Amino acid sequence: MAPALWASSVWESSGLVDANRRATTLRSTEFYGRYANPTVSSFEEAVAALEGAESSLAFASGMGAISTVVLALCSAGDHIVAQRQLYSATLAFLQGPCKRFGIDVTFVDGTEPGAFAAAVQPGRTMLVIAETPSNPLLELVDLDELGALRGPITLVDSTFATPIGQQPIAHGVHLSLHSATKGIAGHNDATLGVVSGERELLDSIWSYSVLHGATASPFDALNALRGIRTLSVRTTHQAASALHIAETLQRHPAVSAVHYPGLHTHKQHDLAKRQMDHFGTVLTIDLAGGRAAAEHLLDNVKLVHVATSLGGPETLMSHPRTTTHASLTDAEAAEQGVGPGLLRISIGLEDPDDLLTDLTNGLIVP
Ligand SMILES: *Cc1c(COP(=O)(O)O)cnc(C)c1O
Repeated sequence: MAPALWASSVWESSGLVDANRRATTLRSTEFYGRYANPTVSSFEEAVAALEGAESSLAFASGMGAISTVVLALCSAGDHIVAQRQLYSATLAFLQGPCKRFGIDVTFVDGTEPGAFAAAVQPGRTMLVIAETPSNPLLELVDLDELGALRGPITLVDSTFATPIGQQPIAHGVHLSLHSATKGIAGHNDATLGVVSGERELLDSIWSYSVLHGATASPFDALNALRGIRTLSVRTTHQAASALHIAETLQRHPAVSAVHYPGLHTHKQHDLAKRQMDHFGTVLTIDLAGGRAAAEHLLDNVKLVHVATSLGGPETLMSHPRTTTHASLTDAEAAEQGVGPGLLRISIGLEDPDDLLTDLTNGLIVP
């Protein structure tokens, strides 16, 4: 009943003809580890089924997936449209290496209707990159609008929703991408990325990926296959807890704002209801007491863990301003909405009322 772990990176052939067949078969699973691996392929098939896609391709990490896809599809002189509200490493990749390689990137506000379409340069824009819900403020991009774009290839980083929470491909988006390190593997014991879409497009990305080499480990793929078996029950429980905690904290005098797409007060709640099956397992709170209040809460939680990442069994809390966004100036951070009192909370599998008790014990009303 459990999938097999193929640790092998090399396969033996019976002779010249057999070796030639293995070497020249697209995504051959029994030739050499960088080309493909049977355990990794099982993981890819499971994700493709969850995403409603023809095919999936796994990578060594979420960033391995993003960087490989960008460099597989774009050359010097090409143009990318990306939203400003991006995971910090994705943003750094587009602003740094892409610029250095002569790939031009225009950043838009992903929440603004028509912003992606207005920035597309016909014939020059190869790729449109969106992330929804976005890190860390849980802002949304309209998937129908993105799916209706004609010309460039559209890519959605759907990590914060998991494949249970939303299905970008059903909205006409070409590529749906996940850091499977997060909810998909779901146990903080695998580093993986995965992208899903039409087989032909993925086969062409695969041809570049064997050169790029951000190859997924079969050990991590095995852990992710185990995680996928409980993905639906985990995320359903976590999303229900996240909503309960978001609604309760919203009424707390120490909390100046709660960002969660499931809240009626979220600016895009109607869009969330249209395109999401649950509202995700992560919420962000802004503390009225600023950095001192954030520090007090982080130093005093007992059940909640102070750690980055998301989607695992334990509730994790992080302070973006001094970790993922530490290198920004105050002005840049303020522009991105990452203030000194902002905390991101990834809700785990604990009892939500135990979590609320732990969180409210550490809140100070200024
Ligand atoms: C974590 C994350 C990534 C990067 O994934 P890694 O597995 O850490 O490389 C990309 N996008 C989002 C939204 C993420 O949360």
